[in-house]
Amino acid sequence: MAARAGVSLRKAVNFMMNLGGLDLGIDLGTANTLVCVPGRGIVLMEPSVVAIKTGTSPPVVPLDGRAVGNEAKRMIERTPESIKTIRPLKDGVIADFEITGIMLRYFIKKVQRRSWGVRPRIVVSVPSGATAVEKEAVKDSAIRAGARKVYTVAEPKAGAVGAGLKISEPVGTMVVDIGGGTTEVAVLSLGEVVTLESFGIAGDEMDDAVITYVRDVYGLEIGHRTAEEVKIAIGSAYPLQEEVTYEIRGKDIAAGLPRKLEISSAEIREAISGPIHQIIDAAKSCLDRTPPELASDLINTGITLLGGGAITPGLAELVSEETGLEARVAEDPITAVARGTAILLESLDEYEEVLGD
Ligand code: ADP
Ligand code: MG
Repeated sequence: MAARAGVSLRKAVNFMMNLGGLDLGIDLGTANTLVCVPGRGIVLMEPSVVAIKTGTSPPVVPLDGRAVGNEAKRMIERTPESIKTIRPLKDGVIADFEITGIMLRYFIKKVQRRSWGVRPRIVVSVPSGATAVEKEAVKDSAIRAGARKVYTVAEPKAGAVGAGLKISEPVGTMVVDIGGGTTEVAVLSLGEVVTLESFGIAGDEMDDAVITYVRDVYGLEIGHRTAEEVKIAIGSAYPLQEEVTYEIRGKDIAAGLPRKLEISSAEIREAISGPIHQIIDAAKSCLDRTPPELASDLINTGITLLGGGAITPGLAELVSEETGLEARVAEDPITAVARGTAILLESLDEYEEVLGD
């Protein structure tokens, strides 16, 4: 009885505290950070990039501390020597605690402008490869940004919840989350990740593959922004009904002068096929390590693709063909993880055992 009263009281207090809709679900991604507020949806989506003045310690962020996210991404590959841009989570682990902290605090403050002094609870999804020390560093940053309680959750768990999968049942479900710096493949059951493949081949490697292709075939040097732009515009994993072309601009390696050219969707598909197949091989190896009862559940539940890379046209078809399982792209795959963190927040009491501390 007393325990139940305690739970009700806690629920009531949380309800009062959250009237302003202030609790935050955060997807701390290698390419993009998203903030989702329960009942309100996505309130922030910005690149996970920070610009700092070179040689400053502690780091000094230009533009009076505002060169974070969108402002910082505009500067990539366009900075003078006095400024450098950093993607603190690029390789999927929280490689740079200090810069990750600066970024997290900036984004939290940005969405908390009208907080009336109420401190939020925060659920942050972190790459599965994050160590206990890295998770502590994330929590510490969120507390310093004003959170009253912070939970971390493994990215595939949040993604599966955001994609609407029933992860708390004793039934296997599988997600493949293709981000910028990392791909996370997981089979879940009873709210836990059972088998996981987390590795550093994802969207960034597709961009690198486009850069290499254009250099080797056309002798044209292009930057990462252009490579990503053409990949998003015409990239695919499976032959398209109608192949298209796209104009790219770069620097002719021999002449050292700016030059533009038309490239076809078939060429971009060939360029990115290396990383695409590495991702599919990882999905197969995750399946191979999955216990038979759970693996057989996947004949019904299939594979759900999420993250920005999931938008690549034809990827679901290719995954289906290669695994023999039904593969589908989650609704709004880029925001699935962030929406999952908000759902976990809304039902914190119910999901308490699903979340790590
Ligand atoms: P992370 O979770 O690591 O921050 P995201 O899930 O936000 O990453 O995905 C970012 C990656 O998705 C980038 O490499 C980006 O180029 C890629 N991406 C975004 N849109 C598309 C698209 N339409 N087609 C293919 N790749 C895309
Ligand atoms: Mg992600």
